[in-house]
Amino acid sequence: MNRLTIEPDKHRPSAYVGRFAPSPTGPLHFGSLIAALASYIDARAMGGTWLLRIEDVDRERSRPEHEEAIRRQLAAFALEHDGDVVRQSERIDHYRHALERLRDQGSVYPCVCSRRLLETAPRNQEGEVIYPGTCRARAVDTLGGRHSIRFKLANSPTQDEVIEDRIEGVITQNVAKDVGDFVLLRADGDVAYQLAVVVDDELQGITDVVRGADLLLNTPRQRILQRTLGFRDLRYAHVPIATNERGEKLSKQTRATALPMDHHGVLVALRRAWAFLNQPTLEQVSSARDFLDQATQLWAVSLIKKRPVHIGKEPFESLEAAQNL
Ligand code: GLU
Repeated sequence: MNRLTIEPDKHRPSAYVGRFAPSPTGPLHFGSLIAALASYIDARAMGGTWLLRIEDVDRERSRPEHEEAIRRQLAAFALEHDGDVVRQSERIDHYRHALERLRDQGSVYPCVCSRRLLETAPRNQEGEVIYPGTCRARAVDTLGGRHSIRFKLANSPTQDEVIEDRIEGVITQNVAKDVGDFVLLRADGDVAYQLAVVVDDELQGITDVVRGADLLLNTPRQRILQRTLGFRDLRYAHVPIATNERGEKLSKQTRATALPMDHHGVLVALRRAWAFLNQPTLEQVSSARDFLDQATQLWAVSLIKKRPVHIGKEPFESLEAAQNL
């Protein structure tokens, strides 16, 4: 691999480059459509490009058939991406190289804490373990042993990370207190999401991230990594996440229904996602393409509501009910 590829390109044009980055752990559902639609329309409204990145770095949960399904669904919704599809499983060298750089800078350390050991550690509001720093102070012998690699946060526990989100406004998080030194390479050898996403966003020249608000509190960690690696800052917009009637985020785990693929179902889903984003009503639309073109003209980020919006019933259980929209 070329060592130079990871160097930030100061001369890169600052035109808008957005992306949609699904994990191929299941087909897209209504929640994923909101993120896909918002990032697509935002990119198009800014005259920018929109890239597709398959986040299959988690080998255990990712499946090629889910990637296939996602790509068919995006095609049915006319959500056409620019450029080649990037697959994280094909970019491991880039992540390893970034990790080496962090190691050379003294910004990482090995950790042999087991999951069981960490079960008793306190958790943050997202339910994540706040790493107590157990292995930070001790010289861990990693020879042949199973271990993860953690990022060593700066020794300033009073320092807040401040993110200005286009939808959520100013977000402040003290990463040392709320998260602690976080994992970059898992004990099973898989690269952690935080590292992969930061490296890819930089190498793909992403300028704007539009994604679900469930990832909002990952952003300060990502910003710290970007800074440490000398990468550029990105603009962020976190769209509200859809929840079911039990208040759970729509996901594969909560058995969210896969998006419909037929002409009528696609238009209903698009209208629902558009209404969820609190955007102005569209005229009669003839196709998904027509919908996206009209939507691009009317897109107003300022109208998006911050709070998670309950959709009540799953949107595609009853198409008759949905037709009333
Ligand atoms: N792969 C993540 C997901 O499917 C999205 C990551 C991101 O947009 O940064 O939830």
